[in-house]
Amino acid sequence: MALMGAQMFYATPSIAQTKTIKNTTMTSDGYDSKFKVEAEAFADLQLLRYQVPGFNSLSLQQKKLSYYLYEAALCGRDIIYDQKSKNGLLLRKTLETVYGTYKGDKTSADWKKFQVYCGRFWFSNGNHHHYSNEKFIPECSYAYFATIVKHSDVKKLPTDGMSVDAFLAKIKPLVYDLAVEPKVVDQRPDIDNVVHSSNNFYEGVTQKEVENFYNKFSKAEDAPSWGLNSKVVKENGQVAEKVWKSGGMYGAAIDQIIGWLEKAETVAENDDQKQALTLLIQFYKTGDLKVWDEYSIAWVQDTKSRIDVVNGFIEVYLDAIGKKGSFESTLSLKDVEETKRIEAIANQAQWFEDHSPIMDSHKKKTVKGITGKAITVIVESGDAAPSTPIGINLPNADWVRKEHGSKSVSLSNIIHSYNVASSKGGLLDEFAANPEVLARLKKYAPLASDLHTDMHECIGHASGQINAGMETPDKTLKNYASTLEEARADLVGLYFIMDQKLIDIGVMPNMEVAKAEYDSYMMNGLMTQLTRLKPGEQLEEAHMRNRQTIARWAYEHGKKDNVVAFVKKNGKTYVQVNDYAKLRSLFGDLLKEMQRIKSEGDYNAGKDLVENYGVKVDPVLHKEILTRFAKLNVKPYRGFVQPKLEAVMKGNDITDVKVTYPESFYKQMMEYGKKYAFLPTVN
Ligand SMILES: [Zn+2]
Repeated sequence: MALMGAQMFYATPSIAQTKTIKNTTMTSDGYDSKFKVEAEAFADLQLLRYQVPGFNSLSLQQKKLSYYLYEAALCGRDIIYDQKSKNGLLLRKTLETVYGTYKGDKTSADWKKFQVYCGRFWFSNGNHHHYSNEKFIPECSYAYFATIVKHSDVKKLPTDGMSVDAFLAKIKPLVYDLAVEPKVVDQRPDIDNVVHSSNNFYEGVTQKEVENFYNKFSKAEDAPSWGLNSKVVKENGQVAEKVWKSGGMYGAAIDQIIGWLEKAETVAENDDQKQALTLLIQFYKTGDLKVWDEYSIAWVQDTKSRIDVVNGFIEVYLDAIGKKGSFESTLSLKDVEETKRIEAIANQAQWFEDHSPIMDSHKKKTVKGITGKAITVIVESGDAAPSTPIGINLPNADWVRKEHGSKSVSLSNIIHSYNVASSKGGLLDEFAANPEVLARLKKYAPLASDLHTDMHECIGHASGQINAGMETPDKTLKNYASTLEEARADLVGLYFIMDQKLIDIGVMPNMEVAKAEYDSYMMNGLMTQLTRLKPGEQLEEAHMRNRQTIARWAYEHGKKDNVVAFVKKNGKTYVQVNDYAKLRSLFGDLLKEMQRIKSEGDYNAGKDLVENYGVKVDPVLHKEILTRFAKLNVKPYRGFVQPKLEAVMKGNDITDVKVTYPESFYKQMMEYGKKYAFLPTVN
C-alpha cells in the first residue's frame, strides 16, 4: 500500500528549523543546501528534483547492485503506459516523435500548448490525469496537431504501414475525443466498474464475468492474489488470462528486467537478499503467483541489506475492483538516522495494537515483524513515478502480512524535497485559521507529517485482523476497499499521534505536534485538498476520498459540541479545531467502525461512509478555495525528475557508479523513451 503525500500543505520555514525540531543532525546531513529542487512547472504540475545522500559512500559492490537494479527498474517503464491504456504506447511514441523531430516554429503559443500536453502525458503515464483519472486533451486545435504530426519525421511515427492521413484519422479520437476512454478508473457505485474503466486490465468482459472467473480459484487463506499479473480477455467465447511474464504479455520488457536482475543476483549483499532476487527472477520467468508470494516472504525477511528494491506488479489502485497490479519499481538505500525514529514506533507495535480503540476481537494477539525504516530513494519508475508515494507498506497480500510481517518505509529524501519546495508556497498563510495555528503549523507540521506517515505505514496498515473465515477486503469491500483501508491506516496515525506514548518513547517533543497534525488534517480534508479538483468534479482518488471521509465524518459528529468549525473572516472560510481531545475521541470511534467494516466485510456500511462523507464537494466552498489558491504560486500536484546512475567502466569491469541529477523532466522523458522502449505499440 502506498501513502500519497498531502505534503503540499506543509510549509516549512526552513530546513535548519526542521533539523532542530527533529533533534537529529540527519536532515541536512548529506544534502546540498544549494541544490535546486524545482524543475519544470506546467498545467497543475510542478516537477521537483531530489538528492541521494549516502550514495557516494556505498561500497563498490553496493553501487554495482544499485546500478543493475536501477536498470531493471527503468526497463519496465513501458508496461505502465500499456496498463493504463492499450493505446498508451502508440500515443507516447507519436508524441515523442513530434516533440523530438518537428522542424517548424517552436516558439508559437500553439507549440507551447502541445508541449504542455506532452508534459502532462508523461507525468500521468498516459492521457488520464494521474490523480483524478479523467481523460485530458491538448489545448491546441486538432488542425494544428495534425500539421505538426505531418511536419515531423513521419518515418518514425508508429503508423504500422498506414498513410499519415489514415494514421491521424485513427489517433484523432484517442487524443481529442473526451468520450473515448473517458476515465481510466471508474469507481461510481452501481455500474459495471470493469466495463467503465478504460485501463487495459480487461477487454471484452464484464465485472460479473471477471468475478465468476476468479471465484473458481482457491479461497484458502494462503491462496495467492489471483489475477495480480494478467489481463483478462475473452478467447473463443471463454474468459481467459493473458499473463505478464517472460514469453507472455509484456515479455519483451520483462526479459530485460530479468537480465538486469540476474546481474544483481551476483552482487547481492547477503544470502537473504540473493534468495529474494532469485525468486523474483523465477516469478518473472513463470508468472506463477505462488512464487510471487514466496518472493514476498523472502523480501520481508531481508532486513539486513542496505540496498532494497521493490520491483513487480504491486499496487492495485488502478484497477476498480482491486485485482490487477500496476508495474512499479522503487530502488533505495537505508537512511540509518531517520530509521531510528520509525523503529522506535515499530518496536512498540504490540503496545499500539493492545491500546487501540478497536474491538478486542479485531486486534491481533501477536503483531508480527513490522519492519519500519526510512529510505533514501535512488530511482523510481512505473506507477511510482513521476508522482510518488511518501510512504510504502508491503507486501499487500494479507496472509503474508499476518504470517510473515511487512516492511514499512518512509521516503525521506522525497519528503525532504517536498519540504524545501513547500517553504516557498504561502499556502499556510492563506488557509491557516488564526495566527496561533499558523505558527504551530510552521513550527511542527513537518515532524507531525513524518510521524503520521510512520504510524500510517508501520502500525496502521499492519494493525487489526479480519474475522475467521471472512474473505479479503478486495472481495468483500470491492470498489471501496482501497479508500477504507487508507482511512483505517490514517485513523491509527491520527488517534495515536495525540498519545503520551510518543513523548515517552522520545519521538515527539510535546503535544503541540499532535495539534499541528489535527489542524492540518482537518484543513486539508475539509478544504485545501479540493484545490486538486476542477469545478463540478467529485472526489475519485482513494486517498483524497479517505481524507474527506474522515474529516467530514468527524466534523459532522462533533457538530453539536462545536469540536471543529468553519469560521468566516473577511469573507474567507477557515477550518478551526476547537476541542482537540474530543476530536481525538471521534477519530477513535471512527477507527473502531472502520476496523469493524474491514473485519466483518460490511460492504454496505463501508459504501455508506464513503458515499455520504468522502465523495461530494460543496460547490460554493470549492469555488472560494480555487479563487484563493489561484492567487498563490503553488501547483496542486508534484512529481519528480529521477537521478541518473552511470557505470564507470574499465574494459568490461565496473570500477565506480556515478549519480547525477538531471535538470529537465522533458529531456529525461525523451531519453527514457529512446533507451527503455522495449514493447510494441500493441501488446
Ligand atoms: Zn496507505
